[in-house]
Amino acid sequence: MTTNAIIMLLVIATLGHVMAGIWYMAFRNKWSICDRKIYNIEISDKQLARELKNSIHTPLHAVILAAFLYAGCFPDREVTGFFITIAIAFVWAEIWHYASHRAMHLKSLHWIHVEHHKSHVNSPFTAISFSFTEKLVFDLGYLIVLALLDLVFPLNFYGVAGWYVGYLIVNSFSHANFELRPGDYNSMLGKVLTSTTYHSLHHSRYTGNYGLATRALDQIFATEWTDYEKLYRRVASEHRPLDKLREKVE
Ligand SMILES: [Zn+2]
Ligand SMILES: [Zn+2]
Repeated sequence: MTTNAIIMLLVIATLGHVMAGIWYMAFRNKWSICDRKIYNIEISDKQLARELKNSIHTPLHAVILAAFLYAGCFPDREVTGFFITIAIAFVWAEIWHYASHRAMHLKSLHWIHVEHHKSHVNSPFTAISFSFTEKLVFDLGYLIVLALLDLVFPLNFYGVAGWYVGYLIVNSFSHANFELRPGDYNSMLGKVLTSTTYHSLHHSRYTGNYGLATRALDQIFATEWTDYEKLYRRVASEHRPLDKLREKVE
C-alpha cells in the first residue's frame, strides 16, 4: 500500500468527524450560514450525545476500502481511469443507496436503519450517526459491485475513494438543520440534485425523499414529497422555518 493510498484512507476515516466538527462550531457560534433554519425545533444535548456515540462506526468506510485495496482491487492509476471510475461510482452509489435505503424501510429490515432515524430534526452529528450494520451493508454493496466490475474493466482506486470524500462532505451538508443553498436553487441545479431541506423531510416525516445526491429515483418511483419545492422556497427564500415535524405546505 502506497503512502498516498494510506493518506487517502486516513482522510476517509476522519472526514465525517471533521465536517461534523465544523458544522457544530457553526451551530454553537451561530454563524450566518445557519440563519435559514429548516425546523424551529430545539435539538437536545441527549440527541447530540447519542449521535456522537454512534459515530464510532464512521471509520468503517476506510477499513473496508483498505481490505479491498489489500486484496488487489482497483489497480488503475491513470487520470482517465480516475474520471471514468468516479462517474461509475457516482451512478452506482445513487442506485445502491436508493435501493438499500428503501429496503431498510421495510418492517423486516428496519432494525438496521432505526438508529439513524432516531434523529427527527437533524443536528451537525446526524450525518455520522448510523448503526454498524447499516454502514457495513452500504459499504459492502457499494464496493462488491465495483470490485466485480473491476474484474472486467480495471477501476481506479482514487476514483472509488474520491466518491467517499465527496459523499462525506455532501452527506454532512445534507444533515444540517439549516439550508445552505441559494433561494433559487430549485430553478436549475436543484431540479436534479437534492438539498439539506430535501433530506430533512425524510427525517421529520420518516418516509419519502430516499435519494442521496439526486432526485431522479424518487421521481421515477414516486417517492418524492410533493410539497418539497414549496417548502424549500419557504425556508430558503422567505426565511420561515417549519414549526412542526409533520407540517406540510400544500
Ligand atoms: Zn431512512
Ligand atoms: Zn439521514
